[in-house]
Amino acid sequence: MKKIILSLIAFVMTFSMCFADELRLDKEAKYQKQVMQIGFRILNANQIEKRMTFYYDNNKNVNAVTYMTSKSIHVYKGILPFMDSEDEIAAIISHEIAHGIEAHRGLWRRIIMSSCTKSFEFQADQKAVDLMVNAGYNPVALIIILNKISPEQNWFERSSSHPEGSRRMLALYDYIYGKYPEYLIDNAYKNNLYYQNFLLTTKSERKKIREKYTPVKPVNNKKTK
Ligand SMILES: [Zn+2]
Repeated sequence: MKKIILSLIAFVMTFSMCFADELRLDKEAKYQKQVMQIGFRILNANQIEKRMTFYYDNNKNVNAVTYMTSKSIHVYKGILPFMDSEDEIAAIISHEIAHGIEAHRGLWRRIIMSSCTKSFEFQADQKAVDLMVNAGYNPVALIIILNKISPEQNWFERSSSHPEGSRRMLALYDYIYGKYPEYLIDNAYKNNLYYQNFLLTTKSERKKIREKYTPVKPVNNKKTK
């Protein structure tokens, strides 16, 4: 009798484990498809003739990476809880596609990229904005996602490969303001929690950027007759 009960427990456990695995696979298949579809949509809309592949990766780090040799883009599981919309996933993938385009330019380019990663980060952010706009995504989503995941680094952390978050977000704001101001004027994100926080923490810097594009007119002191 004891044997029967034990084997019954073992059977139920195995069955429920398989079922759980299946459920997990279903969920992960959904993410894999989403990552792939967004990736290919961006490639096609931008007429990018170079091949790249897209993977949902089980890695728990809050990150996404481009493998320079295989030109494959991996969106880590750890970054998904930070995403609130398809535009935000598209923002991360667009940034990685920008790196993928550079990787396609050959070994020498890849060596330069690995030696001055920070300037390539700014370039990839700008390129990501163009890629997103062409594929019908709102580029402001890149600011939103960076405000959630990109920390402020101290002076002793400056050797790190990523520039501090606010500098990246302000560079993006500047680029969008200059090239696609319509996204900031008619801002779909104006009530977004993370966008409002970006506005709050960058008040004086954004004022300077706005003045660059709409210079303050000199006051004419001469009285007109
Ligand atoms: Zn990057």
